[in-house]
Amino acid sequence: MERLQWFIDKIGQRIYRNDVGCCKRCQEIAQEGLIVNDEMHANYLFDMEIAYQQDGAKLMYFETKEQALNYENWVK
Ligand SMILES: [Zn+2]
Repeated sequence: MERLQWFIDKIGQRIYRNDVGCCKRCQEIAQEGLIVNDEMHANYLFDMEIAYQQDGAKLMYFETKEQALNYENWVK
């Protein structure tokens, strides 16, 4: 549950994720990041990250865009 707590701690802040090359919206999020609105949103993002990883799609959220880009290059 540490990972969920990470998302909860980010409420009100902007977080970033790598580009999974899925669609235009995903590219936008990779560029601009997104703000965690509330606890529900935090839970949703946490669930999504797990779902993607279980699907074998490497999708992960990070504190900075730089970290997200590093991860993106690493999983390529
Ligand atoms: Zn997409």
